Amino acid sequence: MARYTEAVCKLCRRERQKLFLKGQKCFSGKCPVEKKNYPPGDHGLSRRQKISEYGVQLREKQKIKRSYGMLETQFRNAFAKASRQKGITGENLIRLLERRLDNVVHRLGFAPSRKAARQLVLHRHIMVNDRLVNIPSFLLKPGDSIRVKDKSKKLDVIHDSLKRVKDNQYPWLNVDKAKLSGEFLQEPERADVPLTANEQLVVELYSK
Ligand code: SF4
Repeated sequence: MARYTEAVCKLCRRERQKLFLKGQKCFSGKCPVEKKNYPPGDHGLSRRQKISEYGVQLREKQKIKRSYGMLETQFRNAFAKASRQKGITGENLIRLLERRLDNVVHRLGFAPSRKAARQLVLHRHIMVNDRLVNIPSFLLKPGDSIRVKDKSKKLDVIHDSLKRVKDNQYPWLNVDKAKLSGEFLQEPERADVPLTANEQLVVELYSK
């Protein structure tokens, strides 16, 4: 499976924004965005380019795509699916991305980042509706239950991650920390999703 393998903190620095790709480090003083809030590279600090309309749209797309840890083709496919749905395409896109199993495992607190959540899914630690699912892009539906497989309940990565999350901080999810399980209650409202990006600019970019 194709995946992005370069240093992920560079991606945040490129966007000059925290994309929360590294788990605990993102909340510590070690986060490079806090120390060096300018693009990476030799000229990152000195270059002051005027950014075109296309450039602004591209950056918003990159921000969302990278936040959810997706590659271009996967993201394009998600956009195409969102644009076929009724309603506002940009909001449909965010709702679709939020339904991904790797995202939900992370939001439930079982993994400190989406990347770590993807590993848990790929390594067959996660069950959906009591069936093992090892596809990170699996889309959840309202009413689906998610839980850590019994044999995996002692994994440190899960318990360390859960210590750091607040109870039920997302209204569309319900988590039972003691049972290491949760439920996808409904698709989220865009306003409830903590993502600092303008998805409408992605719609404009892909409509060209
Ligand atoms: Fe790295 Fe996380 Fe900071 Fe992004 S938010 S630069 S991934 S530590």
